[in-house]
Amino acid sequence: MDNVAFIKECQEKVFAGTHISSEDAEKLLNIPDENLKDLAKCANEITQDFNGKKIDVEQLNNIKKNACSEDCTFCGQSAFFDTGVDTYQLPSPEEVVSKAIKAKEEGAESYCLVAAWREPSTKDFEKVCNIIEQINQKVGISVECSLGFLTPIQATKLKELGVKRYNHNLETAKSKFAEICTTHTYEDRLKTLAIARKAGLELCTGGIIGLGETREQRLELTLELARLYPEEVTINILVPVPGTPLELQAELKNSEIVRMFAVIRFLLPESVIKISGGRETMLNDSGEELLQSGANGIITAGYLTMEGNEAEKDLKMIEKIGLQA
Ligand code: SF4
Repeated sequence: MDNVAFIKECQEKVFAGTHISSEDAEKLLNIPDENLKDLAKCANEITQDFNGKKIDVEQLNNIKKNACSEDCTFCGQSAFFDTGVDTYQLPSPEEVVSKAIKAKEEGAESYCLVAAWREPSTKDFEKVCNIIEQINQKVGISVECSLGFLTPIQATKLKELGVKRYNHNLETAKSKFAEICTTHTYEDRLKTLAIARKAGLELCTGGIIGLGETREQRLELTLELARLYPEEVTINILVPVPGTPLELQAELKNSEIVRMFAVIRFLLPESVIKISGGRETMLNDSGEELLQSGANGIITAGYLTMEGNEAEKDLKMIEKIGLQA
């Protein structure tokens, strides 16, 4: 069977509601460059069949910045590295509410509260719960959280507060993890995802590519994501941060990024697949190609430690390529 016929056969399986096998996923990820456009086109058709033309637009609020106790080598917020990133503690609920109102006015459907710590202390968790209550009362936007490791009690509390989705990334393949973080394990990350799922929270998980992992390791991460079947996958592309061990890391080729997004779509036809950090910096087109190769979500108006496109610019880009924000 030629490559195009194989891609089509996999697409037919997905349309028929059958999961493609890990062998199929491996073959798709290794499709020759000359067939990459066919792979991307079929992934896009799957996206539109399962999710239509709607793009999930999200904004983030980094509610606690920098001096994290963990040593993730890609992260500008780790206390282990001298990156010069500014530092602040939890802001007042009023401050977060006004930013959430602005995000909603700018077209964001979800608002994710992210904190740079290993896990929330009891006191900080209470403060975050208060912030969520205030957003619920005063804004009316879907609240998501990324607060590090959670206990079952904390996860249940977030669910009770109406938090829709919990973000906790796997970061990279299990076989690569010990190289990029020594202060916690891959299993720790899986445990928090299981706790969030058990509490009834939707899952958002993914990772960061371009850390020097091999294509096989990107497949490994992709298959683990498929096993977890999250409602949302979030993929960051490394932007090397001066002062971190990965500051000189070579850029990932664009074709590798397209391959990965496309194959994730074959494995997770119904999920939101979001292009996250690195979209504007590492892609020449701010993600236009990926939004037509399997992705159907973006983060707009900046990231945790990096600026991003203004929301208006991103909404125009979505409209320009015939999709809907
Ligand atoms: S990625 Fe998260 S856990 Fe790791 S150092 Fe950065 S803020 Fe801390």
